[in-house]
Amino acid sequence: MCKCRDDRGEKKTVLLYACSGGANVAEIADRAARDLMAEGKGVMFCAAGLGAEIDSMIETAKAADLNVVIDGCPMDCARKILDKAGVASYRAVRVTDEGFEKVKGERATNDQVRKIKVRVEQELY
Ligand code: SF4
Repeated sequence: MCKCRDDRGEKKTVLLYACSGGANVAEIADRAARDLMAEGKGVMFCAAGLGAEIDSMIETAKAADLNVVIDGCPMDCARKILDKAGVASYRAVRVTDEGFEKVKGERATNDQVRKIKVRVEQELY
């Protein structure tokens, strides 16, 4: 598992989860998580795997130094998956809390993804 460095230069395991649903706000969450992973700031991990009760994945999540969940809207699907899997320690960001509206059939824009990425980065250290 990739180790990322915090602001003190210490290595730690940071796992990123996005709800990755069908709505535009879910796409924003998903793309922000992927961009952060591409920048080496965390590793995107499969919320679906935790929902499917894959034991090894649940253990990996519990062992992470930091779990960060990005949900698109107040349904908080990814967050509830972690809760049900018993992953008690995580930080959470909700896209609609950051001023974005959930609109069916609309695509995420690069600017929206960038703004959520910056917001999630605040939770990383
Ligand atoms: S949190 Fe909202 S946007 Fe994300 S999958 Fe659930 S209902 Fe869809």
